[in-house]
Amino acid sequence: MNILVVNCGSSSLKYQVINSDTEAVLAKGLCERIGLDGRLVYQKAGGEKEITDADMPTHKQAIQMVLDALVNPKTGALNSLEEIGAVGHRVVHGGEKFASSTILNEDVLKVIEECNDLAPLHNPANLIGIRACQELMPHVPMVGVFDTAFHQTMPEEAYLYGIDYDYYEKYKVRRYGFHGTSHSYVSKRAAEIVGKPYEELKTIVCHLGNGASICAVKNGKSIDTSMGLTPLEGLIMGTRSGDIDPGAMEYLAKKENTDLEGIMDILNKKSGVQGLSHISSDFRDLEAAAEKNDAAGIRALNTYIYRAAKYVGAYTAAMNGVDVICFTAGVGENGPNTRKGICDYLGYLGVKLDDKANEVHGEEKIISTPDSKVTVICLPTNEELAIARETVALVTAATE
Ligand code: ADP
Repeated sequence: MNILVVNCGSSSLKYQVINSDTEAVLAKGLCERIGLDGRLVYQKAGGEKEITDADMPTHKQAIQMVLDALVNPKTGALNSLEEIGAVGHRVVHGGEKFASSTILNEDVLKVIEECNDLAPLHNPANLIGIRACQELMPHVPMVGVFDTAFHQTMPEEAYLYGIDYDYYEKYKVRRYGFHGTSHSYVSKRAAEIVGKPYEELKTIVCHLGNGASICAVKNGKSIDTSMGLTPLEGLIMGTRSGDIDPGAMEYLAKKENTDLEGIMDILNKKSGVQGLSHISSDFRDLEAAAEKNDAAGIRALNTYIYRAAKYVGAYTAAMNGVDVICFTAGVGENGPNTRKGICDYLGYLGVKLDDKANEVHGEEKIISTPDSKVTVICLPTNEELAIARETVALVTAATE
């Protein structure tokens, strides 16, 4: 079955068509600047990237352009839209309502809408993408795959904040966690790589991209993760602060003469390694600066690495041990220095990095030495494939 995987944001939309039997990507691309002017990027497997500038006032028009490109007689990956068996949609926030992926129907969409308050930038955009696909492909089954679902197994002591319990009961203020599709995919794959049952392993997944989070996966279940109610908590990220004393917000607001909105803008967009370095949010730029002994670049990288290492230590305590540590996403897959920096803190766990193996970029590879007590793996994530797998499993089960 061919699955169209859609990740719809407020002004952009990423897509892939994946054949579920071979797991090959037949075509992929994105729509950018939806509602502004519009650009479609389309690439058939083995083909050239095609870029088309064209008006895309709405998401529906953007998706229509994607569908037209997919069946284009010259460069299309499909002969007809009948060849799309199902659509898998990434949905950012499922609150406490969704502990797994689900087939989308009107009732489910209403419940997703109820989670909009928890992710006002993401969920409404995800819903717009779903509705647009439903209008254009009314008979094709659709599945929602939630970033938060994998973490719904967290125990109470991990997901509660130390605030009045009424706020949890009344408003569901708690830690949810994100990147669940990636943490689930990577931890499962890690078990295959080390050849041990998933249900018996203690794994820490470091998803280090622009957004970054760490997850403790014990016996196949997420038991803690560094992002919280929103994706702002936890690690230092590209432009996000991660953990910060809430008292600093009031102090800063007074000093900078700004309001809560201004503070959130600072913490989300002007902080992280960007804010610490004043150089860039991109680790390639920071590493280039650090190589030239630039103090600001070194400061940002050291602070980032230290925070990540602290979380690995915390999650080792939470699981009473760790068997496998995985590095994934842009920095995790491509940043030997960052991986080494974090592992250098973990000698007490018996982590021994193989410096030669650690030079790997974007490939699955064990990067610890054979006598390391913990297996460390560079493991590229594949959220689209994970969404396609979930989609085909649910759609097949529903039609059996
Ligand atoms: P997201 O999906 O959250 O936008 P990615 O997982 O694509 O992020 O990660 C993007 C980040 O990966 C970039 O900001 C960059 O810092 C980092 N990155 C990509 N390639 C390299 C590289 N070769 N070396 C170090 N960092 C890299």
